[in-house]
Amino acid sequence: MKRLVMLLLPAALTLRAAPALNATAELLAEIIRINTSNPPGNERSLDDLLASQFKPLGFEVVIIPTPAPGKAHFIARLKGDGSQKPILLAAHADTVGVEREKWSVDPFAGVVKDGYVYGRGALDFKGGLAVFAEAVLRLAREKVPLKRDVIFLSEADEEGGNYNTEWLAASHWDLMNCEFALNEGGWIMKNAGGGVRYVSISTADKIGLTLLITAHGTSTHSSLPRPDNAIFRLARALEKISTYETKPKLIPSTREFFLTLAKTSQPPMSTYFHDLATSSDAAVLDRASKAVSENILLHAIMRNTIAPVFLQAGFRGNVIPGSATATLNFRTIPGTTPGELIDEMKAVIGDPDVDVGMPPASTPEGALFARDVEMAGKIHPSSTDTLLYRALASSAQTVWPGVPVTPYLFQAGTDAFAWRSRGVPVYGIYPYPITDDDLSRMHGNDERMSVGSLEEGTDMIYKTLLAVAAK
Ligand SMILES: [Zn+2]
Repeated sequence: MKRLVMLLLPAALTLRAAPALNATAELLAEIIRINTSNPPGNERSLDDLLASQFKPLGFEVVIIPTPAPGKAHFIARLKGDGSQKPILLAAHADTVGVEREKWSVDPFAGVVKDGYVYGRGALDFKGGLAVFAEAVLRLAREKVPLKRDVIFLSEADEEGGNYNTEWLAASHWDLMNCEFALNEGGWIMKNAGGGVRYVSISTADKIGLTLLITAHGTSTHSSLPRPDNAIFRLARALEKISTYETKPKLIPSTREFFLTLAKTSQPPMSTYFHDLATSSDAAVLDRASKAVSENILLHAIMRNTIAPVFLQAGFRGNVIPGSATATLNFRTIPGTTPGELIDEMKAVIGDPDVDVGMPPASTPEGALFARDVEMAGKIHPSSTDTLLYRALASSAQTVWPGVPVTPYLFQAGTDAFAWRSRGVPVYGIYPYPITDDDLSRMHGNDERMSVGSLEEGTDMIYKTLLAVAAK
């Protein structure tokens, strides 16, 4: 069949050789062809391909199945001499699903076009999985003598589900314990000219917290409405919250990130970034905060955010319910406690007939939430004063000379929780230079990663591993 197809192709096509892909781009195209959209994930389906790359080079490979069929974690360990604790590189193997009709190419074909690999996960995070894998494989191919084990972990259930790294840590911590780890997180952003504008390395993630806002009123027949209607009362409370803006809360990494943006932006934004990071004048801060907050991502990383996600009220068409509840999802700056948020929301709402509280611990959601709050309390931003952070910064500056490198607060949660909550520093990076356009396709349509960026990113991570793990 293959031969027949070749004969039918126009001569011009058969003669023009496809440009050679680098090893990382080839691996990425291959793993995109294995659909791991979660749910259900089926991350186990990647593991044979990974094992075929790692085992022949002498890695110890362990596959940890989860109670969910087809779902597993893959761990490959390259042994060092044991004089230092391991370094671990973690990448989630699952992706979000697709709206197939909105893609211009098959999202699961690993199409290479115009210098990009297209497909679901190309950026988040199969591209990173390919970069981390290739950098680690290169250590083995080059037979680099190691002073510590280098562990590569392909994770299940990062995008959802019950068997993520937290599950793995509870049952197999010995396999993933390390001195420090790499994960997804910060960005290597390109400028309009195609050069690298800055490298941000996440040292902390924002934390999700849930509060219930419950308005009370008289439960009665709907033919006799009273002024104390619970649903109207909840609506008034939500209206107040909708126009309320939380105050900027800059942790040291965000301050440093804004100073980097100040250096790499044009006026007036450069001034606003600088003011936000350094000024103590309320009026100056307010003006800067408003201007910077027009960017949704920057708005989110400088404050606690509030989003209503569920409404619950009423049970019959002829009954005015005695209560109405909204569920609010907060994404908080590390160090924020539920108690602070409750007090803040009560002050905003200003109505004694509206309760603000955490989901009751007696419910399954409440029990889970209470555990998350307890774990979140143990999380601290990872220090930038470690061998791994310094190696990331210096290898970035070798690959992209003169580039500013800054720590960063990641706007959402990642699987770094499993390590950070156990005191292990985690540094997050999407290890390839990207444009704003590339970034907007993450979890969206026509997700893609530049073939050249995959090569540069692999070079950066490989140099980092040499600095941290080579004897
Ligand atoms: Zn991700």
